[in-house]
Amino acid sequence: MEEQLVRLTSDLVAIESVNPGYPSGSRGEGAMAAFVEEYCRQLGLDVQRQPVHPGRDNVMARLTVPGARQTLLFEAHMDTVAGDSMGERAWRPEVRDGRLYGRGSCDTKGSLAAMLVALELLLARRAELNMNVALLATVDEELQFTGIRHFVDSDERVEAAVVGEPTDLRVVIAHKGCLRVRVSTLGRAAHSARPEVGVNAIDHMADVLYALRGLQKRLPEREHPLVGSPTLSVGIIEGGTGVNVVPDRCTIDIDRRTIPGEGMESALVEIEALLADVRRARPDVRLELSPPTTDDWPLDTPVDAAVVQAAQAACRALGRPDALLGVPYSTDASKLWALREVPSIVLGPGSITQAHTADEFVPVAHLSAAAELYTRTALELNERVSGRS
Ligand SMILES: [Zn+2]
Repeated sequence: MEEQLVRLTSDLVAIESVNPGYPSGSRGEGAMAAFVEEYCRQLGLDVQRQPVHPGRDNVMARLTVPGARQTLLFEAHMDTVAGDSMGERAWRPEVRDGRLYGRGSCDTKGSLAAMLVALELLLARRAELNMNVALLATVDEELQFTGIRHFVDSDERVEAAVVGEPTDLRVVIAHKGCLRVRVSTLGRAAHSARPEVGVNAIDHMADVLYALRGLQKRLPEREHPLVGSPTLSVGIIEGGTGVNVVPDRCTIDIDRRTIPGEGMESALVEIEALLADVRRARPDVRLELSPPTTDDWPLDTPVDAAVVQAAQAACRALGRPDALLGVPYSTDASKLWALREVPSIVLGPGSITQAHTADEFVPVAHLSAAAELYTRTALELNERVSGRS
């Protein structure tokens, strides 16, 4: 199985599928989708495409079991970040010291390969199945999550999901969400020799930044057992046109990471309230809050969800740690959970430490372990589904 997985993962890595949102003439997920579609057809699965953007389709493959009322979804994204930092080696997969190197090897082509092999193993045990198993290969996870959003908005029904991301083969049930907003202060330009006739937008932004620091200091009081505390970071500040001009505009971009239990709405209201305080204290300050550029939900799958229990049982059966974890990064899983209440776990080969880096790799041993874990999780869930019906 290891040889098959190394070959399959290498084939996937060799297909450039950089998210076209990256500015390096990337090709998008089209060729990957064609490969996954063909591979699944060869296995004998029903395959459909879900057009998301022109030339960028999700691929959905189904192992349908007659009479089954539930569906387990395996999900992995096909896009990658840009390959620039890896140079020529990005699309030239190479196995060295027990590691398979290449862009996307751990994020998330290794997961996708392991899921394809798991489907093949499950096909061979089709007679034991009382539930359907489907594979969704999505577009655009790295930037806007429009692939999974498209699936979530469709009328497809699934009862549980395993999302492939590099978790070091650990079961992840929680992660943070993310809200990004821009705040602008608007003043009046004037000659810097006569600042009193202008209104300095940068000065006013200082009041906003001070108020935000107050919020920053309060956030550690909130804590989630698996993902820790929410955070707030101002990542970009822009303003002014010349040192001799009183600036009439200043903007900042805020990155606010939410924890399970914090609503997107409430995080936004909190920032609005703080801006209202600044306005009250300084009625001459004109402030604008732009609509969020990113609003992404946290993941908070209940520990007693059947898919969580099944994955833990699979870990134990295969002699792997079964403790449940939270991670700081975002995945497609939170959309399945927050928007459709599909209990979803994140589980996959490789480590997030290598994702997006110049040295991206997946340990070869993780690939077959992941395929075994996926297969076993499906079989454990199948027993639980059967037990209930
Ligand atoms: Zn990624």
